Amino acid sequence: MLAVCLLLAGCGVKPYDNDNRYAVIISIDALRWDLPSECHTSTLDSLRAAGTYCETFPVFPANTFPSHYSMATGLHPDHHGIVNNRFHLRDMDRTVLSWNPDDITLPGFWGGEPIWNTAERQGRIAHTYLWAGSQTPINGRQATRWIPYRFDASHRERMDWVLESLRGEHGEVPNLTMVYVEQLDATMHRYGSNAPETLAELESIDEALGYFFREVRKLPVFDSLNIIVTSDHGTADTSPERYVNFYGKLDSTRVVRFIRGIPCSIEVDDDYVAEATGILNSLGHMTAYARDEMPARYNYGSNTNRISNIVIIPETGWYADYSPVDSPYPDIGAHGFDNFDRNMHMVFYGAGPAFRRGYIQPSFQNQNVYIVLCHLLGIEPADANDCSWEDVRQMFRK
Ligand SMILES: [Zn+2]
Repeated sequence: MLAVCLLLAGCGVKPYDNDNRYAVIISIDALRWDLPSECHTSTLDSLRAAGTYCETFPVFPANTFPSHYSMATGLHPDHHGIVNNRFHLRDMDRTVLSWNPDDITLPGFWGGEPIWNTAERQGRIAHTYLWAGSQTPINGRQATRWIPYRFDASHRERMDWVLESLRGEHGEVPNLTMVYVEQLDATMHRYGSNAPETLAELESIDEALGYFFREVRKLPVFDSLNIIVTSDHGTADTSPERYVNFYGKLDSTRVVRFIRGIPCSIEVDDDYVAEATGILNSLGHMTAYARDEMPARYNYGSNTNRISNIVIIPETGWYADYSPVDSPYPDIGAHGFDNFDRNMHMVFYGAGPAFRRGYIQPSFQNQNVYIVLCHLLGIEPADANDCSWEDVRQMFRK
């Protein structure tokens, strides 16, 4: 209890008003909902006790770029256009990567309106640290402060970047500060989702968060500050034995292209879709859907320019491939499996004057983070969004 008091002492003492709105969101890549209970995470534990906690679930597909950009825009990937980490632009006949500088600067690459633009358009100030989409102007706008991509910053450096902003070292204190912490995902891919190395990485992040909270509570902005710690997806372990290669099973003369990944997709001749889908589903350990027959819960398939005509979701822990030479998934941990599988679910902590304390919020899908941030900042959401206020409103104080 002492830790809780130290962590958020002051929160709620001074009610925030419409001119006094500040929010920080920290995304820890691949922080599956149960990982904090597997190791020592005193900061996250305190945060959970001091505010609102939720086991959230990701949009489809449960991958880094689609999911982060859904949190930023309030849109499903089908609608914001980042339909996977890797996908094909039919109109340009070009396969693109969501982190490749040559691709992400293509006109219209990022659809929708990210929260930093929604905020700045309404007179608020936003600072973004490596959030997907933040490094390119979108509709001619960008956050006031942002940085080019780098992967080598320590957890502490990332926290210091936020603290500098909140101390006003880079102009006016931003109303919205967004920061991305990627190392847990890299470690998880390399060692596995519950590996000692992965848990040690999470403990190291938790220490950096502890440092952040110790410092931020010294700042004048703290009493008005709402803080979210969340993630983009969970994780599951793969294995070389859990591998399906359907190369020899399809008529290769009717296959136009394969886009690898989890989930993967394949473009075939239009008159081969039904037959190919049937063949793929007969192989087991994966579910293939014709693009226009995806179950509604995935909210996926209307973006015909960017989604192949067959979408393949492997069974959790499996890898589906279309390759002349067997090439099992190279990593031990992965994500991108069915977003309704609990292994893909992640954490959401919210603390500060707007959030209820010691409250467990029913699960919500993470594109709703957009409307949560709009509420915290006192701004109007963009007209086009896939958010549900009903799904999140209970977590706020009346
Ligand atoms: Zn990720």
